[in-house]
Amino acid sequence: MRKVNIIGSGVAGLSTGCYLQMNGYETQIFEAHNLPGGVCTAWKRKGYTIDNCIHWLVGSSPSDSFYRLWNELVDMKSRKFVDSEEWMRVETPDGRYMRVFTDIDRLEQEMLEKSPSDERLIRSFTGAARRFIGFHLPVEKAPELFGPMDGLKMILGLLPFMLPLRKWVGISMQQYADKCRDPLLKRTFESMFTPKTNVLFVLMTIVWMHKKSAGFPIGGSLEFARQIEKRYLELGGKINYRSRVAKISVKNDAATGIVLASGEEHASDIVVSAADGHSTIFDMLDGRYIDAKTKSYYDSYETFPSYLLVSFGVARKLDDYPREAIVFPEKPLTTDRIPKYEGVMIRVFSFDPTMAPVGKTVITVWVLTREYEYWDNLKRTAPEQYEAEKNKIAEAVLELLEKRFGDVRSKVEMTDVCTPATFMRYTSNWKGSFEGWLWTPKIGLGGLRKTLPGLGNFYMAGHWVQPGGGLPTALKSGRDLAQIICKKDKKKFTTSGF
Ligand SMILES: Cc1cc2nc3c(=O)[nH]c(=O)nc-3n(C[C@H](O)[C@H](O)[C@H](O)COP(=O)(O)OP(=O)(O)OC[C@H]3O[C@@H](n4cnc5c(N)ncnc54)[C@H](O)[C@@H]3O)c2cc1C
Repeated sequence: MRKVNIIGSGVAGLSTGCYLQMNGYETQIFEAHNLPGGVCTAWKRKGYTIDNCIHWLVGSSPSDSFYRLWNELVDMKSRKFVDSEEWMRVETPDGRYMRVFTDIDRLEQEMLEKSPSDERLIRSFTGAARRFIGFHLPVEKAPELFGPMDGLKMILGLLPFMLPLRKWVGISMQQYADKCRDPLLKRTFESMFTPKTNVLFVLMTIVWMHKKSAGFPIGGSLEFARQIEKRYLELGGKINYRSRVAKISVKNDAATGIVLASGEEHASDIVVSAADGHSTIFDMLDGRYIDAKTKSYYDSYETFPSYLLVSFGVARKLDDYPREAIVFPEKPLTTDRIPKYEGVMIRVFSFDPTMAPVGKTVITVWVLTREYEYWDNLKRTAPEQYEAEKNKIAEAVLELLEKRFGDVRSKVEMTDVCTPATFMRYTSNWKGSFEGWLWTPKIGLGGLRKTLPGLGNFYMAGHWVQPGGGLPTALKSGRDLAQIICKKDKKKFTTSGF
């Protein structure tokens, strides 16, 4: 039986492991942390659960092709998902607000009512979203294995969407927002994900929500990741937690195993890194195997930003508030020298009763920042000042919540501040990026290879090889990789499911 060592038990590592186990490989995962899921995680404080990750899970209902793939890893019928009428509400300081409905007709109506002077832009946006309702991503086969017939089939399937795909992947949300006359609509477009993301990414998200196939799994992110861990273990996989990989062993330009930070060595026939891309290429492999394209990504392409997550457990119910609101504080909450993302996201977790004791609520405030170095340095060099900065930001957020909801301060039972330093310590993601490479117009419809030039028996999976990141991407990159490995070993790729 061929042995495979997998680095990282995020969703990509677990997915790779599950599919390789289904195909008769002997795999084990080495994970630096003591939990599965990677960034798809949560933590408990004083009886409250702080959910770090999932806002929406593409493939949560059978209307999307990803559902079948998830069902190979998680018994989807046993999971409860909640969909939302509103994706988010964008509220500007002048008291105006835009409800970003998940139903495209309602969204169009809301935008036209609130920003009639931008009718042309609105209709173009919602018209494009409607057009993509019939679009289905071909998910079954790894694109790397496409033969001429697969290519032809894909082109024919994509033909009606080719022009809109090219058009919308080539414009960023910021560029689209800049065309708006109404500042509220401008803020809304800027706030749908991050301003530099291409419009196609946002349109597809709206379409998935419209089709009610982008729900939130009750129980949250860690609970969902634990389901995949369970499946992996049942398939015979082994996970070594608290096992940070320091080096990938190489002999005659082929990977032969891994070396842990403790010095322990583990040989294998194949090594897969589903961990952070930068540390894989530049630390574990000392930058010896890299081509011009991959290098250009690490030299000049944009990553998703990092973030602060400020959370409160409050002894009161907050049922009547939107699930996600983007608000613009009078003073920026971050220490960013150039505050790019002035809006912060307030999430009220009333929609999931498992997150807080009865009658109580978790509120999280997500503040995007690129100041990962500042937080990391502060934590390492001035721990007292780091704690003081955390307290300062918690206080500023609490003031914001008090103004918004009233009667919060006296009800706070739990406060938690996660900084980019926390996120990097637990997930090792480069620059504290929450989702790998930003899917910008510059990247277009391209991506990175799962291999490195000149290095045999080695592969990569996860959000550092698939721009745009996300959970379905992590799942599919692991599945695609298992197909690629099977093909190389002349094995028929098979799957099983629930
Ligand atoms: C705040 C937030 C919100 C998000 N919201 C959504 C959403 O709503 N929907 C969606 O689809 N996606 C969302 N995402 C993105 C999505 O969760 C990620 O893109 C995806 O989970 C990435 O999985 P991965 O396995 O590629 O990487 P990771 O989750 O980063 O996993 C990598 C694993 O490798 C481990 N590791 C790293 N270095 C080493 C080492 N040297 N040795 C051993 N182990 C190592 C890490 O500890 C980690 O467990 C969100 C992410 C965040 C952070």
